[in-house]
Amino acid sequence: MKAAVVRDNSDGYVDIVEKELRPIKSNEALVDVEYCGVCHTDLHVASGDFGEKPGRIIGHEGIGIVREIGKDVDSLKIGDRVSIAWFFEGCGRCEYCTTGRETFCRSVQNAEYTVDGGMAEQAIVVADYAVKVPENLDPVQASSITCAGVTTYKAIKVSKVHPGEWLAIYGAGGLGNLAIQYAKNVFNAKIIVVDVNDDKLALAKKLGAEITINSLHEDPAKVIQEKCGGAHGAVVTAVAKAAFDSAVDCLRADGVLAAVALPVDTMDLSIPRVVLDGIQVVGSLVGTRADLAEAFQFGAEGKVKPIVQTRALSEVNDIIDEMRAGQIEGRMVVDMKK
Ligand SMILES: [Zn+2]
Ligand SMILES: [Zn+2]
Repeated sequence: MKAAVVRDNSDGYVDIVEKELRPIKSNEALVDVEYCGVCHTDLHVASGDFGEKPGRIIGHEGIGIVREIGKDVDSLKIGDRVSIAWFFEGCGRCEYCTTGRETFCRSVQNAEYTVDGGMAEQAIVVADYAVKVPENLDPVQASSITCAGVTTYKAIKVSKVHPGEWLAIYGAGGLGNLAIQYAKNVFNAKIIVVDVNDDKLALAKKLGAEITINSLHEDPAKVIQEKCGGAHGAVVTAVAKAAFDSAVDCLRADGVLAAVALPVDTMDLSIPRVVLDGIQVVGSLVGTRADLAEAFQFGAEGKVKPIVQTRALSEVNDIIDEMRAGQIEGRMVVDMKK
């Protein structure tokens, strides 16, 4: 079968190679992959940013149909449509796994990083960790929800924003536009969107943002304090230290900053601001199986519609270039049949 694997020199690109998968174990399933989205994390893994992984199959926005199940599997059956997500498997026994915080399991497995991912014609999943896709959810959209969707859905949960409250979303790109839809249509929050790109801000307006701010021309924290009395929560999807610093300043007292993007910098965090205003800064890491099932369901109900476009597997390196150049609106999804 064909698979997109990290190059030996980790130069940020992948090679499309013929690869044979090992036989499945008793708790696993073999999946015929239909679609797999391209995510920024793929670029990091292909570049060896988290440690070099030559030969690893990339992809953690995979959707496919179960072709074969191991002898102990009772959670899936042949023909089910399932996800291949970054959160691939937890130990199932530790304090995190047993208390609804499984993405923080210290022995977690991650697709495309510690195990082979979904950018291939077939993939192996641990049956109990592959989340089923609802029947009325388009599989191309499901692929985008598997990472970008669930990541933003979870971050809004972490921000603890309530209906009618103000949520500031920093970054209106692939993650941000999904954050807007979940925040608006599921959490009933009032949305402020901050970005440096006017086209993305126009799209944010169309998706229902009450206030949009171009941070090249205006100081977002100042505008948000003046117009809303400060935001109740902020979700930062923009990969920039400035966005994090501004998000702290845009909050009202007892506000929560949910951090999603991963710039390599440290952020400015005034201790008096944290103590006297009770500001919370919390990291949010993808989502659990339950979070993903919920995120899928809202997609199936039409509350959230990822912006997606399908491409061929042979175009993955082109997509990587387009992504680096910031030319992509929404998500590029590889269609394994193209
Ligand atoms: Zn991702
Ligand atoms: Zn665990």
